[in-house]
Amino acid sequence: MRIFSEPVDLRSRKEMTNFLQDHFRYPTMNSWNRATSYACNLKIHRLGLESEIEAKLYDMLGTQEFYCLRQDALDLFNEMHDYRWQAAFNGRSGGYLVLYQGELRPTGHLSYCTCCGQRNFRSITETGNVCGVCRKPARVDFKVPPKQPITFPGRGTDMDEDYEEWSLSELRERVKLVQELDSLADDLVSQAIRMANEYDVVEEEYFVPQTRHVLVAKET
Ligand SMILES: [Zn+2]
Repeated sequence: MRIFSEPVDLRSRKEMTNFLQDHFRYPTMNSWNRATSYACNLKIHRLGLESEIEAKLYDMLGTQEFYCLRQDALDLFNEMHDYRWQAAFNGRSGGYLVLYQGELRPTGHLSYCTCCGQRNFRSITETGNVCGVCRKPARVDFKVPPKQPITFPGRGTDMDEDYEEWSLSELRERVKLVQELDSLADDLVSQAIRMANEYDVVEEEYFVPQTRHVLVAKET
């Protein structure tokens, strides 16, 4: 099995520079967009797994549960980095884990309804506290206005960086960040293997509700 994380001597400028320079990179958007960032190739056939596990992983890719668990792990990474750094999948079949830049940005909502949860872009000092949706006088202003994560997909990281000019502590910080991305890749692979060992992928039939127009006799 392929291991992504590797030890780096955080006292050695040379070792840290080599690690960053030689690290696998991938486009943050498309290959024609020039932006690239640190990445890990998580394509299943590149993970060095037994063919039985490999086949099962391909089947698991079609399930919702697989994506939910994977997203949980990414969310944890993003939250830990305050969304300034985010990990996400890119590539035609989504096989590459890529490091993105982003931020938390206010959504612009100033108040919300304590009854139905509806958010509002105006303060109750401006509009009164009656909710436009449920009509109850239950709106209050946010004490801390909510924020949402934004990703900058076109922004690459350290593309033509001359690491010579970086201080040791800057290098150290970046190496640690990229090492965390590598560990995340390892965690994702172990998580997927664990799922493959513990679950079977089975087919399930389900029905989707649809709407149509029908005639209903008038009540007399
Ligand atoms: Zn309401």
